Amino acid sequence: MSRPTLTRRAILGSAAALPLAAVTGPARAAAPMLGAATTRFNRVTLGDFEVTTLLAATMPRPEPQSIFGLNVSAEEFAQVSAANNIPTDQAQFFFTPTVINTGAELVLFDTGLNPEAITGALASAGYTPDQVDVVVITHMHGDHIGGLMGEGAAATFPNARYVTASAEYDHWAAAGNEGFDAKMRPLAEKTEMIGDGASVASGITAMSAAGHTPGHTAYMIESGGKSLVIAADFANHYVWSLGYPDWEVKFDMDKAQAAATRRKVLGMLAADKIPFIGYHMPFPAVGYIETRGDGFQYVPASYQLML
Ligand SMILES: [Zn+2]
Repeated sequence: MSRPTLTRRAILGSAAALPLAAVTGPARAAAPMLGAATTRFNRVTLGDFEVTTLLAATMPRPEPQSIFGLNVSAEEFAQVSAANNIPTDQAQFFFTPTVINTGAELVLFDTGLNPEAITGALASAGYTPDQVDVVVITHMHGDHIGGLMGEGAAATFPNARYVTASAEYDHWAAAGNEGFDAKMRPLAEKTEMIGDGASVASGITAMSAAGHTPGHTAYMIESGGKSLVIAADFANHYVWSLGYPDWEVKFDMDKAQAAATRRKVLGMLAADKIPFIGYHMPFPAVGYIETRGDGFQYVPASYQLML
């Protein structure tokens, strides 16, 4: 006997065959439409650490190929997008700082676009700005340093020390930049300038991942025999940049170096099966990497880090 095939037409047809009242139920007041929504924080555990991703902002942006696929044809961009069930006319952007409670210190990685967004997300996760002991800046684009300072040059995190790569600080200090001058330069004396392999706190180690910016740095997080990488902006889109690491991204300052770094970091994450947090991955921004063809595939975490 052949199995009946369940098609969209068959499902809709069977509902349509019912009397209308059976489908709609008795009349009642309509609930208001609330729009698409998500939570603002997601907390997982890693050994003795608590790792919380914070959604500082999310918004749609038009013309994603002009950002994520500079060196490919419109046909290839459309074909890859369709195969992965995402549109080509707009993309949803996410901005996701991470805060880690090591038990000894509360360590925040990046700060979003402005103080209101990061403090709001921290509050939803149960933290206040004065509890932050360390702020680590992965690189100095505006969407990562924007939350450091508010009106009147007031530091958002009054009790924090700061950590960043010296190569990153030195680049922006020499280049000159309005955002850098307003948000980062005033904190220079409180900032520890580090290099590849430096220990930021117990279980938190810097890993140079340059290309996106000259001093862009990822961090290996280790506790209780478990590992996770705070990968920041080494890859900026979960399909276009992970599946096709050589596709050029508008925001990568050195495009060849950024592509080489992507392949190196993605290869390590896939081979060692280490979960990572990507600042611009779809929220809650925690996932794994598998190899696929000549590139890689994003596999969102399920419950692995809840156990
Ligand atoms: Zn960014």
